Amino acid sequence: MTNLGAPETDGRPVPLLDASTRPYWEATLRGELLVQECAACGHRQFYPRSICVECGDTPGWLTTAGKGTVHTYSVVRQSGAFPFNQWTPYAVAIVELDEGPRVMGNVIGCEVDEVRIGMRVEVEFVPLNDEASLPFWRPAVT
Ligand SMILES: [Zn+2]
Repeated sequence: MTNLGAPETDGRPVPLLDASTRPYWEATLRGELLVQECAACGHRQFYPRSICVECGDTPGWLTTAGKGTVHTYSVVRQSGAFPFNQWTPYAVAIVELDEGPRVMGNVIGCEVDEVRIGMRVEVEFVPLNDEASLPFWRPAVT
């Protein structure tokens, strides 16, 4: 089983950018992973929303370091859904960013059986189209 090659993007669903998500996706083109941070109450959240879920104010953006820890994960070994059925096995993790919010993404750069809860990972962006790159996670170098 291998999970080591560059991830395929052909056929992946593409994000539909709207007022709430456009800054997030534009940042992916620069290799930056953003979360929202509320200036009024300090709450940080992901995924992007038009309001802070804690206080209702309009959140701003925080550029993260793109590093975190695997909070939990699952290895997908079979799938009936195209295009994902051509990429099995693959590991999908909930990564807790060092800045707090949790994000979901595939773990690459190691065998799927090497993924562990508590594993340090860092983001790697893979170009998808001219509007977005996709964040993947690989074992952290440091
Ligand atoms: Zn708030």
